[in-house]
Amino acid sequence: MENILQETNFILKKYNIKANKSLGQNFLIDGEVINSIVEASNITRNDVVIEIGPGLGTLTRFLLEKAGKVICIELDTRMIEILQDRFKLYNNFELCNEDVLKVDLQSIIQKEKQSFKAVKVVANLPYYITTPIIMKLLEDELQLESITVMVQKEVAERLIAIPGEKEAGAITYSVYYYASSEKIAEVPRTSFVPAPKVDSEVIKLNLRKEPPVSVCDTKLMFKIIKNAFMQRRKTLLNSLTNAKIFSTKEQGQKIMKELNLNENIRAERLTLQNFADIAEKLSN
Ligand code: SAM
Repeated sequence: MENILQETNFILKKYNIKANKSLGQNFLIDGEVINSIVEASNITRNDVVIEIGPGLGTLTRFLLEKAGKVICIELDTRMIEILQDRFKLYNNFELCNEDVLKVDLQSIIQKEKQSFKAVKVVANLPYYITTPIIMKLLEDELQLESITVMVQKEVAERLIAIPGEKEAGAITYSVYYYASSEKIAEVPRTSFVPAPKVDSEVIKLNLRKEPPVSVCDTKLMFKIIKNAFMQRRKTLLNSLTNAKIFSTKEQGQKIMKELNLNENIRAERLTLQNFADIAEKLSN
């Protein structure tokens, strides 16, 4: 840990830069945490790793030792010079100076899949855009094998909750639809420079080969889930009627009765299967 902290301060000084808070720059300085991320991601030479936000390259260095290829996507141009200097001798290192939310991951992955067995995402994510990044990685059906990421603790708990648990939110159902998930490590704020205001967690999402429920109109199912959780204090019946997903309250009552769902039930008590069933009823 001492060494990584020294190395981080040395690089920041050498290139005369300061962490940019608005880009979510909190650099990892904890060797044990880095180890647990690398171990959990289970990388081999047959894998391509996509690292989002490599920053100064602290984690990148360890990924390069294990992976067939590491493709880094970094928005901050100041980091690009550092990374190019630092890894110029590695022939399995590739750098892309882009916004991860705009980059065409589909074409990158399709190309790499021709030479490598699996594509895995590993990252200490910028916290200000955690949710959009995770949703892009899941919804774009990128044929990823796994996503091992550091995120804010509170967000981690929501992402990996089981639908129906009290921590669950709309995003829990999306994650569950696309992936099985596990908690890898709890990470205190002192593991970063500068230290963020919150603690973090490393989680791993293993992308499913088959979804856990079958539903004709997945878009409709996710629209129902999103609207059901927008007003989570209200009953499901009222939320979906207000959102005009049920055309009338009577239609909602009928569907819920047919599905053996209590009229007063709230969104957070429903399983993914329940939402899939409602979507099926509405599509028929
Ligand atoms: N991986 C480094 C580490 O662990 O020390 C840095 C992690 S830091 C939490 C997040 C990184 O994401 C920063 O390097 C930041 O510049 C980068 N970043 C922020 N927004 C980004 C975006 N939209 N696209 C790509 N990278 C981004």
